[in-house]
Amino acid sequence: MMNWLDSHCHINDEAFRDDLDQVLQNMVDSDVKKAMIISSYLDDYDFALKIKKEGIDFKHALGIYPGDVDDVDEDLFNEYVKRMKEDECDAIGEIGLDYHWNKENKERQKEIFKRQLLLARELDKPIIVHSRDAIQDTYDLMKEYRVRGVMHCYSDSAEMAREFVKLGYYVSIAGPVTWKNAKEPLRVIRGVPLDRLLIETDCPYLTPAPKRGTRNEPAYVVYTGKKIAEELGIDEEDFKKKINENYQMLFGL
Ligand SMILES: [Zn+2]
Repeated sequence: MMNWLDSHCHINDEAFRDDLDQVLQNMVDSDVKKAMIISSYLDDYDFALKIKKEGIDFKHALGIYPGDVDDVDEDLFNEYVKRMKEDECDAIGEIGLDYHWNKENKERQKEIFKRQLLLARELDKPIIVHSRDAIQDTYDLMKEYRVRGVMHCYSDSAEMAREFVKLGYYVSIAGPVTWKNAKEPLRVIRGVPLDRLLIETDCPYLTPAPKRGTRNEPAYVVYTGKKIAEELGIDEEDFKKKINENYQMLFGL
């Protein structure tokens, strides 16, 4: 029996401070045995490193979030770099571009993204990319500064997903694929080769059906995984095996 995994979660978030032990136990009970914890702040990262649970293999990513680039000066940037270089940091992310929340600082966002791409290349660590309303600029930079990595919580077109796959990137699918109105996410999963797919919760956000409306948590990645396996007409065990292989290929080196 293969286990499930969550390739992108924020269990270091405030939203889990009161019942983290239960959330971790729910992972064990749901057979979610691997998870990548994403940190956007240094204190979140320090906290994430302390999260342990018997039977669960946690990995850690640290990155400067595109929404925060205006708050990061050179000293702080260097503090991030220092930690990214350490062995406990398995991936650089989430990094990228977000023009939904801020269109005024595009050049600054691109500069910080570019610098982190170069850093990932130098450190030979995979990237975890956030892109919102900025897909073309994201693509252009990821094409120019090519490293191994994943488009997290992918929410753009199936056509564009295939372009990222052509560059060697993975595409990670979150809860929205389970929602009633899901249309494009279903085209995405059919358009991306199985050896380039990943699954995630991005919890506490984007809760999959049937839990939509409540706080998301890693255990719920099972709903997303089962839905995708069903839509693709793949045996659940085979699907889990594939997802585990992909996760290992991307983050296990
Ligand atoms: Zn995230």
